[in-house]
Amino acid sequence: TERIRLTGVTKQYDAKAGGALALDGIDLSVEAGEIYGLIGRSGAGKSTLLRTINALERPTSGEVLVDGVDVGGLSAEELRRLRRTIGMVFQQFGLWSSRSVYDNIATPLRLAGWKQDAIRSRVAELLDFVGLGGKAFARPRQLSGGQKQRVGIARAIANHPSILLADEATSALDPQTTSDIVALLRSINEELGITIVVVSHEMDVIARLADRVSILSHGAVVESGDIHQILARP
Ligand code: ADP
Ligand code: ADP
Repeated sequence: TERIRLTGVTKQYDAKAGGALALDGIDLSVEAGEIYGLIGRSGAGKSTLLRTINALERPTSGEVLVDGVDVGGLSAEELRRLRRTIGMVFQQFGLWSSRSVYDNIATPLRLAGWKQDAIRSRVAELLDFVGLGGKAFARPRQLSGGQKQRVGIARAIANHPSILLADEATSALDPQTTSDIVALLRSINEELGITIVVVSHEMDVIARLADRVSILSHGAVVESGDIHQILARP
């Protein structure tokens, strides 16, 4: 089944000033359970595309469907609910620096109305899953980059989302740590069944993660399909 579908999506940030198109007629479909890769240079439109999926950006034209629902037509309450089903991780991790690891992961659960006991056991389970058992009381500045991204990932999947959006999730990390995070994202896909859309300017990261990819250039998809076929082309 189709989890995400973009049809004719364009985005112009400053339409009044006649700004360039950040997205220029994107058609894209992501199947439930797959890891879908978006690759392209800086400025190609990858982040913008990702942020149209959880409606952080509203397209200038075109349609974004998540599980068959047009996200452009949602009320504020429906948007909040949508965003709970879509986790997101970032290049710079996006952690609250003054809060403990525990609170970083627990906060979205509190906001979603989880009960205290359920939050405690869920956070413990997540710390275990991402390999940070024992770090609940640490502050982000006491963690390595890879550990911070593990916290970011735990927070993103805390609320049992069906989709995870990863925006340059490994771009601030060294090669070994990148491999560890790649493995963690794969296990999230395989063991938890979460559909992942992964954005990177690093082809080898995409190649290790994604089943299918789209290559973006100047806001348009210039190529898409099976990653290994694309890589094999002259
Ligand atoms: P990528 O993620 O591939 O680096 P982005 O989606 O960040 O690309 O950017 C696509 C284009 O849109 C770029 O030209 C960028 O400068 C522009 N852009 C991105 N975000 C904004 C914004 N908030 N306001 C205005 N222009 C933006
Ligand atoms: P509050 O509603 O005041 O945030 P909590 O019981 O959720 O109360 O948490 C209080 C603090 O205790 C949290 O900030 C967290 O650092 C810590 N804490 C609570 N439960 C755990 C746990 N299972 N593991 C680690 N730290 C915890």
